[in-house]
Amino acid sequence: TSFVLRLLLASSHQARVFSDSFLFPTTKLFIDGKFVESKSSEWLDIHNPATNEVIGRVPKATQEEMLAAVDSCSRAYHAWSDTSILTRQQVFLRYQQLIKDNIKELAKEITREQGKTLADAEGDVFRGLQVVEHTCSITSLMLGETLPSITKDMDTYTYRLPIGVCAGITPFNFPAMIPLWMFPMGMVCGNTYLLKPSERVPSCAMMLAKLLQDAGAPDGTLNIIHGQHDAVNFICDHPAIKAISFVGSNQAGEYIYERGSKNGKRVQSNMGAKNHGVVMPDANKENTLNQLVGAAFGAAGQRCMALSTAILVGDARGWLPDLVERTKKLRVNAGDQPGADLGPLISPQAKGRVHQLIQSGVDEGATLLLDGRNVKVKGYENGNFVGPTIISNVTSEMKCYKEEIFGPVLVVLEADDLDEAIKIINKNPYGNGTAIFTTNGAVARKYTNEVDVGQIGVNVPIPVPLPMFSFTGSRASFRGDTNFYGKQGIQFYTQIKTVTSQWKAEDATLKSPAVTMPT
Ligand code: NAD
Repeated sequence: TSFVLRLLLASSHQARVFSDSFLFPTTKLFIDGKFVESKSSEWLDIHNPATNEVIGRVPKATQEEMLAAVDSCSRAYHAWSDTSILTRQQVFLRYQQLIKDNIKELAKEITREQGKTLADAEGDVFRGLQVVEHTCSITSLMLGETLPSITKDMDTYTYRLPIGVCAGITPFNFPAMIPLWMFPMGMVCGNTYLLKPSERVPSCAMMLAKLLQDAGAPDGTLNIIHGQHDAVNFICDHPAIKAISFVGSNQAGEYIYERGSKNGKRVQSNMGAKNHGVVMPDANKENTLNQLVGAAFGAAGQRCMALSTAILVGDARGWLPDLVERTKKLRVNAGDQPGADLGPLISPQAKGRVHQLIQSGVDEGATLLLDGRNVKVKGYENGNFVGPTIISNVTSEMKCYKEEIFGPVLVVLEADDLDEAIKIINKNPYGNGTAIFTTNGAVARKYTNEVDVGQIGVNVPIPVPLPMFSFTGSRASFRGDTNFYGKQGIQFYTQIKTVTSQWKAEDATLKSPAVTMPT
């Protein structure tokens, strides 16, 4: 708290004297261990999505500032990569404690800028914190391999080593969790890190940077720049940056993957989704409907793992009225209001887009069972609220099925049997997540074997793997070959050096040059 407060007070004080921006606190850059005011002439407003009031401003960092940030990463790299692994581990052991101590403050800031409910914002921090906790096992995770006696007197062993300066570009929907998927993993391996948070929700990343500094991360090991396309292009092009982690939309992710790869960088790109929940008629009805409603409408559907499409199989088609009744009970309110189940969408544009996609379903002949477009939230009339919406009789040709809606809208398809459901899902280009609800083990097994999706839940609606595993979205939801966090995360942020050594006894000295390939 005191940090944000100090930051806000300092900036508004400074602003009154030095700039026109005195009305609003300004987001700082974090360069070489200092929180500095940008000299940029281009700034973006930050809004509270529940009111649309401007609550802050974020700069588009200048080229000089971005160069200063990456140079700071480069300068810090030598010493940090050479710092003992136990010392790096200690930084992250302290860091995880500091995040725990400040979880409520971090959550409050997330709700203010992103809109999600406070309880869900705490979950956002918590799921990132788990990744930080996992980084504390780095002494096991970074072990190399050895194979003695490859041939006489010869051994081979590998070191897992950092790769240099790494960069992360993050989306608006998880202001804590997704940055925490990135820089802690990268840094604990010995890399230094340049982060560009979402320009719509930058404050949480700044708080996380301050806590990391307090945990003992040396100056320059993490730098933060702000901005949009220019900052992204800078990251894709700068030769000192060796790897890029991206999470966000397909439009940005495919572009970054291509531009970064062309410049010889490693890129991992987690992108959009359309996640299907298959409801079998033998499922536990009460449990399934509650899981489905929670996973479709939680966080107002602004989760890449939101279960935004239901496929009701066989007699489960008759569960629709119950699904609607349960959904009607959800309370829409500002995220900081007691009892809120879902908050607003991130922007008026996002709200407009969701309205249009709902209307497209109606126009294409689907049935609007529950329409959240006219929801009114008392005291927050200007917020970007959309109430829970259910569209049934949807087919896989409709726009509302094909596009990621990223709002509180559940589209419902029907299938005669499991094979038909699997066919629908495998035809959809996205492969982020899916869930099946059933009490039949053989059905679940068939489903997990045949469905071409990277993350599958069996009676688990949002199967985001814990950090000892990796986040394994597939097909159009992912580009790259090494996923986020877990073993694959360590792989992404390290390179392998393989040493083959021979220590011969003196009497085994070669007597003539060995000119043929050793066999
Ligand atoms: P976004 O792509 O608009 O923004 C993500 C980042 O990319 C931001 O930092 C932004 O500044 C930058 N950016 C935006 N447009 C760009 C462009 N045209 N060129 C270059 N950079 C650009 O995404 P968002 O709206 O912040 O996030 C929502 C999206 O993220 C959804 O599609 C969601 O499914 C996806 N997402 C995926 C995962 C996952 O793990 N698969 C997790 C969270 C969110």
